[in-house]
Amino acid sequence: MKQHTLNSTYTFSGKGLHTGKPVTMQLLPAPEDYGIVFQRTDLGDDVLVHARVENVLQTRRCTTLSERGVKIITAEHLLSALSAMGVDNALVQIDAAEVPILDGSARPYVEAICEHGLIEQPAERRPIVVDKPFVYEDPRSGSRIAFEPASDFSVDVTIDFKSRVIGTQQAHWDRSVDYAREIAPCRTFCFRKEVRMLRFLGLIKGGSLDNALVVDEPRGYLGDPVLQFPDEPARHKLLDLLGDLALAGRPIQGHITAYKPGHKANTTALKLFLASTI
Ligand SMILES: [Zn+2]
Repeated sequence: MKQHTLNSTYTFSGKGLHTGKPVTMQLLPAPEDYGIVFQRTDLGDDVLVHARVENVLQTRRCTTLSERGVKIITAEHLLSALSAMGVDNALVQIDAAEVPILDGSARPYVEAICEHGLIEQPAERRPIVVDKPFVYEDPRSGSRIAFEPASDFSVDVTIDFKSRVIGTQQAHWDRSVDYAREIAPCRTFCFRKEVRMLRFLGLIKGGSLDNALVVDEPRGYLGDPVLQFPDEPARHKLLDLLGDLALAGRPIQGHITAYKPGHKANTTALKLFLASTI
C-alpha cells in the first residue's frame, strides 16, 4: 500500500474546547515520509510540532503535544480523521495553541477530505507490525489496552462508566467499517457533575452544548440532543483512540482491544508498545 496525502487545502475556523480561544487551521498536502506535522504560524514559519507520541505532554481531558516548549492542544480528533481516512502526510498550519473543537466530532474533517479525496504518493507505507501480544494495564483507572497480531488494523473499545445513562457500551472499527459515517460524527461528552470542576481547573472554556454531549444523571443528556447512535459515547472513545494511536507516526498492523480507554492510557500504552518493538 502506498502513502497518501491530501488532494486539496482545507481551512477550519472555530475555538478551542479548553482554551476557548479563536483559531484558524489549514490542512495542506505534504511530501512522502513527512508524517503529520503542525506549524504554529502565530509563532513563526519554523515552529513545528510533530504528531508523535514522544511529544505527548499532557493527557488531561485531551491529548496535548509539545515540542521545544510549543504546544498543540486537543490534537486527537483531527489526527483520528487523518489516520482513519488514510492520510499519511499533511502539514497543519494553525494560528493558536488549540485545534478548533468544531462540533465536537471529526465529521467536518472527513466531509472536507471526502470531497477532494487523496493523492497517492510513490513511497510505500511502512506499518508497525504487532508481532507478539502486548498488554498495558493501569490499576488506578482500570484501563487495559491490548495489542495483538492480526493481518490488518482493527480496534475494539469497551467503556464502563458508573452511569445509568451511558453504562457499558462497545464499539468496533476495522477497514470494512465506514469511519466517515459510523465513527466520525460521534461527539465528545462529559458529565454535568464534572462541569464545575473542569471550569475550576481552567478547562472547557470553549465548551457548550453545540460541541459536546453532557450527561445529566440519571435523566439523560442535557438539552435532549438527538444522538448520532445510541452508543455515541463508545464510538467517540474509539474515535479518540484512533487519534491517539496515530501518534505512532506510522499505521499499526494489529488488533487493539481497549477497555476503559482514555488519553493517558492510550498514549502510555502506545509508548510502551513501541518501546517493546525495538
Ligand atoms: Zn474526543
